[in-house]
Amino acid sequence: MILSQTLEQLANYCKQYGFVFPGSEIYGGLANSWDYGPLGVQLKNNLKQTWWESFVANNPMNVGLDSGILLHSDTWVASGHVNGFQDPLLDCRVCKSRFRADKLIETHSKGTVDADGWSISELTEYIQIHKLKCPVCGNMDFTEIRKFNLMFETHMGVIEDQKNTIYLRPETAQGIFLNFKNIQRTSRKKLPFGIGQIGKAFRNEITPGNFVFRTREFEQMELEFFTVPGTELDWFAYWKDFSRRFLIGLGIQEDHLKFYDHPQEKLSFYSNATTDILYQFPWGFDELWGIASRTDYDLKQHQKHSGESLEYLDPETNEKFLPYVIEPSLGVERLFLAVLNDALTEEMVPATNEMRTLLKIDKRIAPYQVAILPLIKKQHQEFSLDLYQTLLSKVNAVYDDTGNIGRRYRRQDAIGTPFCVTVDGATLEEKSVTVRHRDTMVQDRVPIRELADYLNDQLKG
Ligand code: ATP
Repeated sequence: MILSQTLEQLANYCKQYGFVFPGSEIYGGLANSWDYGPLGVQLKNNLKQTWWESFVANNPMNVGLDSGILLHSDTWVASGHVNGFQDPLLDCRVCKSRFRADKLIETHSKGTVDADGWSISELTEYIQIHKLKCPVCGNMDFTEIRKFNLMFETHMGVIEDQKNTIYLRPETAQGIFLNFKNIQRTSRKKLPFGIGQIGKAFRNEITPGNFVFRTREFEQMELEFFTVPGTELDWFAYWKDFSRRFLIGLGIQEDHLKFYDHPQEKLSFYSNATTDILYQFPWGFDELWGIASRTDYDLKQHQKHSGESLEYLDPETNEKFLPYVIEPSLGVERLFLAVLNDALTEEMVPATNEMRTLLKIDKRIAPYQVAILPLIKKQHQEFSLDLYQTLLSKVNAVYDDTGNIGRRYRRQDAIGTPFCVTVDGATLEEKSVTVRHRDTMVQDRVPIRELADYLNDQLKG
């Protein structure tokens, strides 16, 4: 049974076990910022690693990149972010709460109205006609709607003036477009091929929230897949399905996912197809992964603004053209939330009639894969620590000797460790250990010399 937990329960779980802590807590906190503790960073790294393997390292079509967070500021003029990366903002005059007008409408209509991309007059009209009230204080006294640019601005060097304004990147994608020529030349890739990147992005969101779902600092895993014009919609379908299978491969239940195909009339002017993969978060279905067919818009813009040709020379036809791009773009933190939400369960243990918290997470991405537990600390600690050291180089292992063995098993169940290796009296005599399986609680006796292979097989299986 998947426990349908509230977001608050999920956040409490994350704090209790060391996945996520509120940011800058000892100074009273920094609103909507989060730090990832020992288990959180391990899970995040495992998610990034799995994405990297699927989309880059083990994918013969694609290569990787790690570009700068700070890019030439003309990048953001060319990409349209300086003029267009704006959200409609309004304030409640009574309680001073601030909202995104489109989200206010979407919440008020319980998701039946999609106000994304509406003009200020359309938004204003809707709010007036439907007499929308402030969700915080209940008053109907909003300021006018104004546009607010989401990019974090700073200055490069010591002089703060317009000339050296620089932005923290709001997406990783543009670094890929800037390097398209370099990568194509050095990797000698032929179309179709992709460039993947994982990295931090920053957006000065008006209404961050829902735990780590919407934050001002987050990480993206993005692929820009370059195709021959005319073939892009086939590749769009290909990456949609690839992405869906990636999520299911991580253990996410298929009926917790939904595709939202943007209607033709609502597409951004440069896109000829866009789909969001929605996940059923505790508050309802919401965007997990954006997949867009972006035509040649980005390369064309950078070519125009930089004066550098970004055309691809087809070695067979000798034709020069700008490739069309498919972009699957996924937030690490949203995936983190979805994976935890899907895996966190509570179940009855028949033998003891007790409830246990169980993180039924895929073995490959579990924060720890194996826990080494001495049955009696005084007698079995030394041997256990040696075993722990040996296993550390082979699997993600953790050592725990605090509290009775039953409680230690429960703790490992709750953080998703698939295997507990217990060292007991017989270990020293017979040179064997007990391996307990997280989901079934079945215990196997395994000779120590076979333990590494045994665990390897189980983790692969
Ligand atoms: P939303 O509509 O939720 O604001 P978006 O459509 O602006 O998202 P994109 O620009 O398509 O998002 O970004 C691609 C992906 O990056 C999103 O699908 C999401 O997983 C992630 N992402 C975007 N903004 C944030 C944020 N503020 N916090 C965490 N993740 C984010």
